[in-house]
Amino acid sequence: MIVTDLSNSFNPVPKNERKKDKKLINKKKHNCEYCGKKNCYTNTHHIKSKGSGGDDIEDNLIELCSNCHRKVHDGLISKQELIKIVKRRKIKWK
Ligand SMILES: [Zn+2]
Ligand SMILES: [Zn+2]
Repeated sequence: MIVTDLSNSFNPVPKNERKKDKKLINKKKHNCEYCGKKNCYTNTHHIKSKGSGGDDIEDNLIELCSNCHRKVHDGLISKQELIKIVKRRKIKWK
C-alpha cells in the first residue's frame, strides 16, 4: 500500500504554501501590506488557501513581511484582517 499521496491531499494548507512562499522571498522587495514595513522581502500569501478554493488573483494575494507572514500562519493575524486590507487597497486604486 502506498500512502505518500494521501498525506498531500490531507494537508489543509500551510506546508505547501510555505514552500511556495519561500521561493518568492528572494525575488521581491515590497512594502508589507499589514504592518507597512518598507522595502522588505515579502511573501505572497494566499488569504484563502488554494485547498479551500482560493485563486491566484489579486484579491486573494497579499504581500507580507516575514514577521507578519509568520503571524498569519500562527493564527495571530486573522483572515478577516487581511481581507479588510485587500478591500481598502481596492478603494485606493479606483
Ligand atoms: Zn509586516
Ligand atoms: Zn502564507
